[in-house]
Amino acid sequence: MQKGAIRVQTENIFPIIKKFLYSDHEIFIRELVSNAVDATQKLKTLASVGEFKGELGELEITVAIDKEKKTLTISDRGVGMTAGEVDKYINQLAFSGAEEFLNKYKGQGDGTNIIGHFGLGFYAGFMVSNEVEIITQSWQNAPAVRWVCDGSPEYTLEETTRADRGTDIVLHINEESEEFLEPSRLRGMLEKFCKFLPIPIKFEGQQI
Ligand code: ADP
Ligand code: MG
Repeated sequence: MQKGAIRVQTENIFPIIKKFLYSDHEIFIRELVSNAVDATQKLKTLASVGEFKGELGELEITVAIDKEKKTLTISDRGVGMTAGEVDKYINQLAFSGAEEFLNKYKGQGDGTNIIGHFGLGFYAGFMVSNEVEIITQSWQNAPAVRWVCDGSPEYTLEETTRADRGTDIVLHINEESEEFLEPSRLRGMLEKFCKFLPIPIKFEGQQI
């Protein structure tokens, strides 16, 4: 008889996410839109407790497809992330930022509306993508950053520019997932998973 421990390393996680974790690939949209909602709710909480003093402006989430570039982009005007936050919340996969935030702002403002759920939420994007980009500008005074990863454990993180605070998640849709670049298919998914959210979701100029 042989006994041993299975070593789980980052290298092993991506294939698991892609193949087994979610049998239903279309739920990537729910995960990414719910992150955009969480980020927007966080900003509203920060405004309600007086930490964010700027203009909230129109707080909507936009979903857009570019058939030529084969990209699907989810954009929000929420809290955004600094380079340090991308490192903490995205690169250190197992860490749930929602939990930390909830503990800090428990019972204050709108904070209680944020659902802190366990999961690989953001990484669900890799089920349907060759490459995922994050372009994000924090509500705090920090340079905008661009994070790119092709699903291998290597990523790049660099400074960039973004017109406004918030985050774009750009999915470079893979060949097997091109159905998600069809407007009618995507609209159906948004109606299935992203209706009745506390922040307006817009697709092709219309609210879901
Ligand atoms: P969870 O939502 O359960 O925390 P996710 O994997 O979905 O886990 O997201 C990880 C973390 O990445 C979030 O908690 C948040 O800190 C950060 N994040 C993801 N998407 C966004 C976004 N659109 N804006 C700001 N932060 C984000
Ligand atoms: Mg999430």
